[in-house]
Amino acid sequence: MNKGLLIVICGPSGAGKGTVHDAVLACMPQIRRSISVTTRLPREGEVEGVNYYYRTLAQYQQMIAHGEFLETASVFDNYYGTPKAAVMETLASGYDVMFEIDVAGARQIKAKYSESILIFIMTPDFKTLEARLRGRGTESEASLKTRLTGARVELMQYQMFDYIVFNDKIEDTVMRVEAIIHAEKSRIRRNTERIEGILAE
Ligand code: 5GP
Repeated sequence: MNKGLLIVICGPSGAGKGTVHDAVLACMPQIRRSISVTTRLPREGEVEGVNYYYRTLAQYQQMIAHGEFLETASVFDNYYGTPKAAVMETLASGYDVMFEIDVAGARQIKAKYSESILIFIMTPDFKTLEARLRGRGTESEASLKTRLTGARVELMQYQMFDYIVFNDKIEDTVMRVEAIIHAEKSRIRRNTERIEGILAE
């Protein structure tokens, strides 16, 4: 049996990581999505237990105290964390798990699970990122500047990632991420038991 993969998708806001994450999950049923806990309020249309588990700061701090998180980070003034138990259950059931989290969270996961696969999704350049953020029309000028500075700080940590995919055309990006996952699953070290089983037949 292959051991389940921990696949972490990172990238600045506006690079399209959410779209990539959702598209890959839709195409690859053996991968399950990790549902994070957050202290931010639900946005319109978001559902408890589907998008996030929404908790108060006090509840969140209690979860930290009880060691319930695989990783936790503060992003844009709110806390976000990955519940450990759900991930462990999913892996134990034989599925892979995909996380869409920030770079600080990715660093914590890599430190605990060196076998995790860290993929950075980036626009072809910063000009494109700025244009995409402006095109959304959701950010104030100040928030735009914060996000662009944040994007640079995230990209500066590129050495910690295993892969970077430049998101020019979304279909190509999704295909590349899928190719990375297929290649990772085909690694010899992830298939030794199966190979030995075949040899023992
Ligand atoms: P949003 O509030 O727009 O849903 O997410 C804001 C940011 O928080 C995104 O960059 C997202 O990747 C990050 N994020 C979401 N869930 C988690 C998590 O469980 N852990 C960490 N470290 N970051 C997260």
